[in-house]
Amino acid sequence: MADGSDFGSVDLVGIGPGGSQHLTFAAADALRHADVVIGYHTYLSQIRARLRGKRVLPRDIGLEMERAAEAVQLACSGHCVALVSGGDAGIYGMAAPLFQTLEARGWLPGQPPRVRVIPGVSAAQAAAALLGAPLMHDFATISLSDLLTPWEIIVQRIEAAARADFVLALYNPASSRRVTRLDHAFGVIRRFRTAETPVAFVRDAGRSGETVGIASLGTARGRQADMHTVVIVGSSQTRRLGAAALLLTPRGYTSPAEPSG
Ligand code: SAH
Repeated sequence: MADGSDFGSVDLVGIGPGGSQHLTFAAADALRHADVVIGYHTYLSQIRARLRGKRVLPRDIGLEMERAAEAVQLACSGHCVALVSGGDAGIYGMAAPLFQTLEARGWLPGQPPRVRVIPGVSAAQAAAALLGAPLMHDFATISLSDLLTPWEIIVQRIEAAARADFVLALYNPASSRRVTRLDHAFGVIRRFRTAETPVAFVRDAGRSGETVGIASLGTARGRQADMHTVVIVGSSQTRRLGAAALLLTPRGYTSPAEPSG
């Protein structure tokens, strides 16, 4: 039980992309402090060693609002709850469902239960670290999941970000139900970028079996990604260094000095 008061707390814990080497000290502290841990079962299995002696509530994918309501309910009955998200809880994670649930109950900041958000390393950052420096300058993350956003809006955002020359980090690029979405997205981006634009498929970043595949916008195909993959599409400035899986987006638009002679 929490701390003797009627209300407990909810910590939104971003556990990073996978392995415990990417879990922050603050996230580890929050998990240690919790007596109940709720989350999508795949994420909980990644932190199994930290859950001994705790009440663990693994949940299926989806059902985010239900998971958030459960966390609030438990906190209101005195528990210290860790509500777990993969990567960062504020990036396509549990942060909004939790605060929406609290808002609907008339909760205001400062009132019990106490809520903290513990940041985590998001998939785009973990992928970028494997690739070198692809997200430099400005980048946009776009989720291709149309479960909560109509596909037409997602396409509008891809188009706007592609037109504005952001490097793109595409989350939720595919599922068995949405096999053609990523090909559609590439088609939109091709209207604004050359066929040589580097595209990286990073699968299971920071987990065992992590893979990095590099293609160009001209050759990239949707089937190269699944739900464990984040796809990085370079801007007009992004280049590949040699034949390596290393992508460089310079910090500004000034070109390097021309070699003399
Ligand atoms: N909150 C998470 C994102 C959840 S959405 C975060 O901040 O990373 C789920 C999507 O994130 C997946 O479909 C995939 O596109 C991406 N993703 C999550 N973990 C990943 C990993 N370890 N490697 C590659 N992509 C990952």
